[in-house]
Amino acid sequence: MKQLKTDIVVVGAGASGIGAALSAAENNARVILLEKGNKFGGAGMFGAQGLFAAGSRLQKASHINYSPKDAYVEMVNYTHYRSNTRLTKAIIDKSADTIDWLAKNGLQTELVNNTQEVHQNHPRVYHQYIDKFNGFQRLMNHFASLGGQLLTDASINSIDYVDGNIMHVTITHNDAKQQIDCSKVIFADGGFVGNHKMVDSYLTIDRDYLYSMGERKATGDGIQILAQLNADTSGLGVFENHAASVVSKTDPKWHNDTIFTLTNLPFLWLNRRGQRFVNEDIVYDFALWGNITYTNGGYYYFILDQPTIDYLKTHRLDWTDSFERTFKTLSHQDMTHTVGPFPTIEKDLQDAINEGAAVKEQTLAQIANTLNFDYNTIQQTVLEYNQIINSGFDSDFNKSEEFLQFPVSQGPFYAVQAQSTTLGTIGGIAVDEALHVLDKNGQIIPNLYATGNNASGMYDTSYPTLEGISCAFAWNSGRIAGEDAAKSL
Ligand SMILES: Cc1cc2nc3c(=O)[nH]c(=O)nc-3n(C[C@H](O)[C@H](O)[C@H](O)COP(=O)(O)OP(=O)(O)OC[C@H]3O[C@@H](n4cnc5c(N)ncnc54)[C@H](O)[C@@H]3O)c2cc1C
Repeated sequence: MKQLKTDIVVVGAGASGIGAALSAAENNARVILLEKGNKFGGAGMFGAQGLFAAGSRLQKASHINYSPKDAYVEMVNYTHYRSNTRLTKAIIDKSADTIDWLAKNGLQTELVNNTQEVHQNHPRVYHQYIDKFNGFQRLMNHFASLGGQLLTDASINSIDYVDGNIMHVTITHNDAKQQIDCSKVIFADGGFVGNHKMVDSYLTIDRDYLYSMGERKATGDGIQILAQLNADTSGLGVFENHAASVVSKTDPKWHNDTIFTLTNLPFLWLNRRGQRFVNEDIVYDFALWGNITYTNGGYYYFILDQPTIDYLKTHRLDWTDSFERTFKTLSHQDMTHTVGPFPTIEKDLQDAINEGAAVKEQTLAQIANTLNFDYNTIQQTVLEYNQIINSGFDSDFNKSEEFLQFPVSQGPFYAVQAQSTTLGTIGGIAVDEALHVLDKNGQIIPNLYATGNNASGMYDTSYPTLEGISCAFAWNSGRIAGEDAAKSL
């Protein structure tokens, strides 16, 4: 078996792994970075567009008055103090410096408007990547120039860990087994959203209703190895619920622009019992929209009747598509605050029906029958909803008056199913503020670190509405772990 030697092995070359590997290399450690796939980046590159920071140079230059203290208070209140306060503080305190550090090493960001319309009054915190893919490449070039070694198609199998010391790590690299002698391992392999069995153990909804946009290669490898070493896994089970999606029952790649936009608007939504369950304008906050979908069994239906369809076919609607973001650098366009018209809406709905994602029926009784709703419940719900539209006041859930526009009165009726959507798992192994892995008694398991989606403590049940916080957690947790590991060699 081929033998390699290094100081630190970092498992996973996503946001937190690159953060860890580069920081450790900058602090004079010899580092081998393992990446399961054939390229680096993970969800931190293919998915994320930017990250949160408080008190950054860019914020100060724009006179944004939002300090690390403000962010800390907001975070711990959001989690009701069911979080790791020292870790939260460490991440937030480092966040401004990380923006400069990324820029210095080749990944520039710019402070844009918060991306969701509903967050426009929150102080600006979203630092959006500029030239993302080249920027990641520059970070990796810098890592290599410091002597860092990236092994792609390389996955960890096991570690030989005796009395707090790592003797060696066994990996599979290009289908061959290899051993790396090292003294510290940083697990940055992105959680376990790609592991169906683990997801089933922690998901509180049926997996059939979970649509994952997360990193498929994140299969909980590090978490499972650490669990065997008695690490505290009590934080597992937090999913990064994000919006809701209409999904084909047969074709995972299916996409229809019109259906996508309709999903992102606050029409009438019914849960699995045929009841209204929320002010549908929650659609404008991705985290909260994701949470309410998850909480309602993982799916709901949005309902349209024929007069609504006829209207949308020919009229522009003075609403914002919730996914219309203020991506200034990507599109350099302002939000339009309008959607439609949708001239092909009936064809598009038929497309969704063909994909098993929607139904069309002449009457509400038939809708009830097809979707297994109690007829009296849906009839009563629709009656009340139409009264709400007439009165211009949502006495049930206080949906904003501007969205009380479309009654549901005349068939045929369409019900389109929207499903829970996740960006990944964000509850993992318990860590301290230096990202050391903790055991079930809260004690450090020496020489082992968990970062990014592998670590727990920043969130309680869901991810907060602070834009860019999960990527910020990944970069900052990686950096802190990399520095700590290198300095304590
Ligand atoms: C579509 C999408 C959009 C997003 N947008 C944002 C956003 O705008 N802002 C934000 O804050 N967050 C966003 N996120 C979340 C953010 O990307 C994650 O929080 C962050 O990437 C987590 O970092 P990580 O290092 O833990 O995991 P990742 O960045 O996913 O990296 C994990 C890496 O580990 C590798 N790996 C897995 N198993 C092994 C193994 N056994 N051995 C070696 N390597 C392994 C994987 O291949 C992967 O490269 C988004 C996520 C998605 C999916």
